[in-house]
Amino acid sequence: MNKKELIEKINKIKKQKNAIILAHCYQNIEIDLVADFVGDSLGLSQLAAKTNADKIIFAGVYFMAETAKILNPSKKVYLPNVSGCDMADMINLKQIKEFKSKNPNAPTVCYINSTAAVKSECDICCTSSNAIEVVKSLNSKEVLFIPDKCLASWVEKNLKNIKITAYQGYCPTHYKISTKDILKKKEENPLAVVLSHPECKNEVLELSDFVGSTTQMMEYCKKSNEKEFIIATELGVAQRLQRDFTDKKIIPISKEIFCPSMKENSLEDILFTLENENNEVKVDETIAKKAVNCIEKMLKI
Ligand code: SF4
Repeated sequence: MNKKELIEKINKIKKQKNAIILAHCYQNIEIDLVADFVGDSLGLSQLAAKTNADKIIFAGVYFMAETAKILNPSKKVYLPNVSGCDMADMINLKQIKEFKSKNPNAPTVCYINSTAAVKSECDICCTSSNAIEVVKSLNSKEVLFIPDKCLASWVEKNLKNIKITAYQGYCPTHYKISTKDILKKKEENPLAVVLSHPECKNEVLELSDFVGSTTQMMEYCKKSNEKEFIIATELGVAQRLQRDFTDKKIIPISKEIFCPSMKENSLEDILFTLENENNEVKVDETIAKKAVNCIEKMLKI
């Protein structure tokens, strides 16, 4: 089957089964050809909460599909390939309980990149776009933050009077970006503005002109009068910006900065899942009930 036939078949079955395809912007760019919505964790979780579709095919990693399932318990959610987020998998139920027991008086904020079981033990969820507002909303002098130490440190820097005790997890993809990479790209492109994701190390963020979530970075590029941008995050973001803003020069920080788990899905996998309804995501009811509180508290903010 060629690409055109594949896309036609996917669209036909999607309609027949009243299914929706949600895709994260780190996916292989060809997935956008069949996706009903492409976005970051917050956008996708908000959309998952509103959809009228009976079935959700989630082109992303496991915690994202779990989030969609928790917000839509009556719908069926499928992952074309069952791949986890390396950062989310750095903390499990036992480890979050231990972490909390060492710091019993502070509320716990969990980055959306965490499993449902871990979310069920936390007070409120956040994404990279709303982490500062979420922490501020707790009105607490001390906050526990899991699992990303880089995002935690960026939030702490922006909220000077709040002590953040961070779990020592990190995103292996963003952690690979170094100050050397930034300085090299800046030297090659002296007029370019540097945009970074807060999952990058602190020293990388310090060299950046703008720090924001995937959607915030994309919006910045769209609205800015600047013409050249160095994109310090997963490769998929720069690829989509290059495709959408042909009058701007988009410079990926490196072609090596990509998330292997996010790149596992292909159009063939999506078709297979639509046809066979494999890899349905299920979340234990007790865990789902506790985790949904944590996500809904964030969605209210
Ligand atoms: S890029 Fe990092 S945080 Fe995002 S899914 Fe991959 S491992 Fe997880």
